[in-house]
Amino acid sequence: MVDLKGQYAGIKEEVDSAVLEVIESTAYINGPKVHEFQRELESYLDVKHVIPCANGTDALQIAMMGLGLTPGDEVITADFTFAATVEVIALLGLTPVLVDVDPENFNIDVDAIKKAITPNTKAIVPVHLFGICANMDEIMEIARAHDLYVIEDNAQAIGANYTDSNGNKRKAGTIGHVGATSFFPSKNLGCYGDGGAIFTNDDKLAHTIRGIVNHGMYVRYHHDVVGVNSRLDSIQAAILSSKLKRLDLYNRARQEAAKKYNEAFRGEEHIVTPVTKPECSGICDDCDCHVFHQYTLKIKNGKRDDLAKHLNENEIPCGVYYPIPLHRQKAYADTRYNENDFTVTNTLVEEVISLPMHTELDDEQIEFITSTVKAFVNG
Ligand SMILES: *Cc1c(COP(=O)(O)O)cnc(C)c1O
Repeated sequence: MVDLKGQYAGIKEEVDSAVLEVIESTAYINGPKVHEFQRELESYLDVKHVIPCANGTDALQIAMMGLGLTPGDEVITADFTFAATVEVIALLGLTPVLVDVDPENFNIDVDAIKKAITPNTKAIVPVHLFGICANMDEIMEIARAHDLYVIEDNAQAIGANYTDSNGNKRKAGTIGHVGATSFFPSKNLGCYGDGGAIFTNDDKLAHTIRGIVNHGMYVRYHHDVVGVNSRLDSIQAAILSSKLKRLDLYNRARQEAAKKYNEAFRGEEHIVTPVTKPECSGICDDCDCHVFHQYTLKIKNGKRDDLAKHLNENEIPCGVYYPIPLHRQKAYADTRYNENDFTVTNTLVEEVISLPMHTELDDEQIEFITSTVKAFVNG
């Protein structure tokens, strides 16, 4: 699904020497490399504060702790996402409220959010799934009207732009009150281990979060709040600095691959390709379209599972993200949920399939993958 080895080959010298430099410096924790990367990411995202941490799941949890959410508070999020999003809500004793998603872009459905709001609702967690932003304009408007926090789960869309209704371009993850991302190796900006970060433009929240990631300390050995230990290693930060310089190039390579996939699948009766903005050619530096963390098709003739098997037999990697809606997972089942409220997710889990998507895909690979998919789906 990804080709981390091929990508590493292109940056080996730079990464190797940066990693060696950290080893020789012995500043393994909170060293200068972490601060350098933090500042580079603040500038790239045009956000006031980046707080690095240990992984994307921690980033979400710490963001919620920083906002002061407390047990009993309801947090609305998407039914169709990776479990980390809902896991941290439940872990903090908050009440997850899962809602359906949009059938076109797979992101949280705005009308479903409106229906789910109660007097106990405190926050909305949109997930920018597969690399395309949720409808942030409407989500922020709902949040303003109901005095809710918005926590963006940006683990899959780092570098994606979002143009708001006033024409302002913002980076995904910097639009809500706080954003969280993951540097898991296969993410669009991945390190060589675990890593994550929290973003915010709110000075007070940033200060609170900086203490939380460090055992609740604002002054050494004074623990003002209950915190956690969540740090980005200096070695990972050094690797991330090398890769951040290339993030736009990497995302462009993904967009180019997606465009070729789209062209190959054009006119296919049983295959629905991912949405980008209608005016977008699919190749753009500066619009709010997709950064293709995943390239995900919908297979409309019931052959999805057989196709996955066929691709595996032909040594073409593929993935089903996600095969089971969160509201049907044992850990997150809730008697308040009604199957009729999840018709989109319930359909998507039967139809979606993600094809190999990374920065090193070549034309020959794309041709082999797309012809194999088309021959099977039509056969
Ligand atoms: C990867 C991912 C996370 C978790 O990130 P980790 O770094 O693996 O903890 C959270 N949410 C989404 C949507 C993700 O894809």
